[in-house]
Amino acid sequence: MNMPDSNNDKFVLKLVPCARCGNPFMIKSDQLKSGELICDNCVKLEQRKKQLTSSVIESQKEIKTSIKEYEDKLKLEDSQEQKIIFYEKIKKKSEILTKSIVLLKKIEKTNDEKYIEEYKQLFEKLKKESS
Ligand SMILES: [Zn+2]
Repeated sequence: MNMPDSNNDKFVLKLVPCARCGNPFMIKSDQLKSGELICDNCVKLEQRKKQLTSSVIESQKEIKTSIKEYEDKLKLEDSQEQKIIFYEKIKKKSEILTKSIVLLKKIEKTNDEKYIEEYKQLFEKLKKESS
């Protein structure tokens, strides 16, 4: 029996299950040592999740700033009617903020491309509501 040539062995392709989705995919056998084995689809999904997450966080900062501004205006305002308007704005923006936190959790949990698309649309809707 011949011992496998260690140099050539690096270029042998192996079918392994992805650590995330479980789908089998091909790797070079020297990649086996490189820790968690994740397929290209999952790597791309992870990138999209990161992008969407940072957009949501960016938007949350804007909403928080805006709530703060309305709170300051509320303190200085004398007219009851105007106070109610500011109060309603704060309430609405707080609701959107809560929704965006729920959305972040959903994005974190998902491992499905189709949900990322759905969450992206939800986020766009939230952004429209908050402006
Ligand atoms: Zn995968």
